[in-house]
Amino acid sequence: MKEGNKKTILVTGGAGFIGSHLCEKLLGQGNKVICLDNFFTGSRDNISHLLKNKNFTLIERDIINNFNYGGSLDQIYNLACPASPIAYQHDPVKTVKANVKGSINMLELAKEKSAGILQASTSEIYGDPLVHPQGEDYWGNVNPLSPRACYDEGKRCAETLFADYQREYGVDIKIVRIFNTYGPRMAKNDGRVVSNFIMQALSGGEITVYGDGGQTRSFQYIDDLVEGMIKMMEKNNFIGPVNIGNPGEFTIKELAERVIKLTGSKSNIVYGDLPEGDPKQRQPDISLAKKKLGWEPKIKLEEGLLKTIGYFKEILNK
Ligand code: NAD
Ligand code: UDP
Repeated sequence: MKEGNKKTILVTGGAGFIGSHLCEKLLGQGNKVICLDNFFTGSRDNISHLLKNKNFTLIERDIINNFNYGGSLDQIYNLACPASPIAYQHDPVKTVKANVKGSINMLELAKEKSAGILQASTSEIYGDPLVHPQGEDYWGNVNPLSPRACYDEGKRCAETLFADYQREYGVDIKIVRIFNTYGPRMAKNDGRVVSNFIMQALSGGEITVYGDGGQTRSFQYIDDLVEGMIKMMEKNNFIGPVNIGNPGEFTIKELAERVIKLTGSKSNIVYGDLPEGDPKQRQPDISLAKKKLGWEPKIKLEEGLLKTIGYFKEILNK
């Protein structure tokens, strides 16, 4: 039931890094939030502070199973999928199922409830890009047989499903392509570069740069992403896809050096093998997000890293 402007919003993957921040923000706006998660990579700690909020409901469930929900729903944010390369390659067939069966389940639900549905897609759609920076009209360079393909092709197929549910059934869809995002509540052991480097620097371990560290990524702070996702969901007559990321591009070696400096760590950098299929460069072209959503990121890498370092210090001292 709608009360005023309050909406009932389902967030799949709501106990994960991004999902927990999104749930928090949507609750803060006065909405009712239902978080669906199987806790594969998410954690109860991420949402423990939300459990006492009467507008928050947790449903422990796997997105690949049918989901019959009795109440009304206004919006669905579909985030349930492991996001770190280690996590999504752990059970690659399951990763494909989370994207394909999971998306079908959520699109069916959106169709039944006449709800808007936003897909958390990814810059991995562009694979190892031959165009730089990447705009939404670039179709990508993805090897369907690579160990990353369960995620890349799974997410590509999810986009196809969203587009087809819109064309065939008129479902109110949105697609955002998220570029590397970091911040508090990243799992400390999920293997992604920002959490790895900060944990290694704080514990005095070696900083593990893969390859020669010349590959680039563009890092976006979580608060900027959440603002962009909500703006996209609320925007009428625009389904995307739209890139949401920070165009500030850094080599992985530069990132390692920044983390060492900002933590005051004495850690050394060691160089290891580059994982198969690791993209060489990545930078979003965000002109479309600026034009259509009036959105651009505000938080610079140093500021975001300091906040994230503060979080990891806290959990290390617990
Ligand atoms: P995360 O691993 O912290 O969160 C994913 C959440 O989904 C976890 O809580 C996990 O338990 C849950 N989940 C996984 N499989 C599930 C299943 N089968 N059923 C129910 N729940 C399941 O990762 P994140 O960084 O918060 O990413 C969230 C979403 O954003 C993912 O879809 C990811 O692909 C997308 N994304 C993230 C980034 C990034 O840089 N963080 C970049 C691009 C896209
Ligand atoms: N990376 C690294 N050391 C690590 C973890 C990652 O050098 O300890 C590199 C990885 O090879 C990639 C980049 O950092 O080039 C980003 O990796 P991440 O897993 O965070 O994200 P993705 O590759 O999906 O963009």
